Amino acid sequence: MSRLDAAVIVVGAGPAGLMLANELGRRHIATLVLEAAPSTSLHPRANATQARTMEYFRRLGIADRIRAQGLPPDYPTDVAYFTRYTRHELARFQLPSSAEARSLAKRLTGSWSAAELPHRCSQLFIERVMREAAEALPAVRLAFGWRVTGFSETQDSIAVDAERIADGERRRFSAAFLVGCDGPRSTIRRQLGIRYAGEGGVVRDFMGGRMHAIYLRAPQLYSLIRGGRAWMYWTVNRDRRALMAAIDGVQDFVFSAQLKSGEETEEMSVARAQAIFFEALGAECPIEMLSRQSWTAGLTLVAEHFGEGRVLLAGDAVHLFTPTGGLGYNTAVEDAVNLAWKLAARVQGWGGPALLASYERERRPVALRNTGYARRFADSVGLYTAPTAIEDDSPAGAAARREAGDYLLGHARAEFDIPGITFGTRYDGSPLIAADGTTPPPDAANVYVPTATPGGRAPHVWLGDGRSLFDRLGFDFTLLRLGPQPPSAAPFAAAARSAGIPLQVVEIAAVEVRELYGADLVLLRPDQIVAWRGSTPPAEAPELLARLTGH
Ligand SMILES: Cc1cc2nc3c(=O)[nH]c(=O)nc-3n(C[C@H](O)[C@H](O)[C@H](O)COP(=O)(O)OP(=O)(O)OC[C@H]3O[C@@H](n4cnc5c(N)ncnc54)[C@H](O)[C@@H]3O)c2cc1C
Repeated sequence: MSRLDAAVIVVGAGPAGLMLANELGRRHIATLVLEAAPSTSLHPRANATQARTMEYFRRLGIADRIRAQGLPPDYPTDVAYFTRYTRHELARFQLPSSAEARSLAKRLTGSWSAAELPHRCSQLFIERVMREAAEALPAVRLAFGWRVTGFSETQDSIAVDAERIADGERRRFSAAFLVGCDGPRSTIRRQLGIRYAGEGGVVRDFMGGRMHAIYLRAPQLYSLIRGGRAWMYWTVNRDRRALMAAIDGVQDFVFSAQLKSGEETEEMSVARAQAIFFEALGAECPIEMLSRQSWTAGLTLVAEHFGEGRVLLAGDAVHLFTPTGGLGYNTAVEDAVNLAWKLAARVQGWGGPALLASYERERRPVALRNTGYARRFADSVGLYTAPTAIEDDSPAGAAARREAGDYLLGHARAEFDIPGITFGTRYDGSPLIAADGTTPPPDAANVYVPTATPGGRAPHVWLGDGRSLFDRLGFDFTLLRLGPQPPSAAPFAAAARSAGIPLQVVEIAAVEVRELYGADLVLLRPDQIVAWRGSTPPAEAPELLARLTGH
């Protein structure tokens, strides 16, 4: 190790790279992050942190700091649909404020039985907290302002070439593993010759084609918008579709409008961008544009491979989403959680040779699944055409608005209440899962059935002392001993000790937890996925653990 600059070099400090740095750093893996930009992102992009991502932040101890970011604690995170923001409100799907989300999480059961509920907050703020958390870890070094230009591989290490943007200084860094978390135009993916496959150019009335995003400050906007405060404001009219998210609940917003055919290639002037915003508002008011960005909606792309040998890829470098459903950044974070423990296991020597290959085996199907859900939501909202009379002040207009409102409310329920997507990631068929012959519930966007059938998220439960079961789990493998008289953990503990596998044994006597898990002993992976369950310790615990760790 001493001849290398780090065990793992991560390219890119977006959500995927920062999550990977945190997950590796918590395991004391020397990690160097090279990021071309001078800081974390300054333009707001993702606005939704799904509940599962919040659970991952909770294990890192940063969920509360993240939940304190963005909108004020009492700000409702409603999704509201308008003809134009100062005209008619068509539909409103009510969602809790962050303060309500905290207390609701303790009461909800069934599909929403979770340690954390979603947090609707700009990626802008989240990246800052993730960066601070990574910087506090002694094993992690973050180097902003360094662009990676390429890499070369020797038998047991990777040399990474980078250039400091400020002064052009070039350096070669070395590591045992390299991970490209370098976004859609990934230098690392391209050098590997890996391509995206899927749909790239879908055209829809909305969420299909070029969009123009404006990060704006408008102190008077809340006094002009019709109806109560909301997190998301959509417009549905016959001229142009748009979407706006509240950033700070005071004066900052991010607005995205669909560009029309012919406009995509134009250089968008400030005056033109402002006119598009006023058109959606149905009025004019003073605005300051903080930043602008054109982007493409309607992508459903997944890379053919998620890496090769010692070089891995995560996040937008391997999957590109349409933002409907809010899944791109969340899928990127989950990639990092899946990959980090496997990399750590390889570096620490207890992970077998098949461990890294399981990353693509497990995560590529999830990327296909999640991009597919996002595309269906984009079709549902983007192919919807408003009735012609929708803005008329007439009985026909009122009827058209009711009809549109009914449709949009149904759509909002489907897109913004998605426990099945967020908790339902499964790795059935993976060599790292010991199937027990039980069948998991069917995959569904809006329903999640808690199950300990190996291959999926450990079902969550609040314990008698008010703590989350997840707060009791180890950071790496956990063996749960459940019920009043569980079998001995000794065979597993001895096997783990002799193989160097970090394993924590946790005892939970509550009968309800034993019933929920359907077994007395349950082995959870570091990413809180059920790997194995049974009611007697297997005689072949060493072989089982070896298989589950890639040997
Ligand atoms: C307008 C918009 C709205 C969105 N809304 C949502 C949403 O609501 N919910 C959601 O989940 N997702 C959303 N997304 C997607 C989300 O922003 C991305 O999925 C997420 O940022 C991906 O994270 P990442 O870390 O993989 O990549 P990125 O965030 O793109 O980070 C990659 C990083 O790598 C750096 N980099 C690139 N090349 C190099 C190099 N050669 N050397 C060094 N550094 C390099 C870049 O500077 C960048 O910081 C949205 C995206 C857009 C554009």
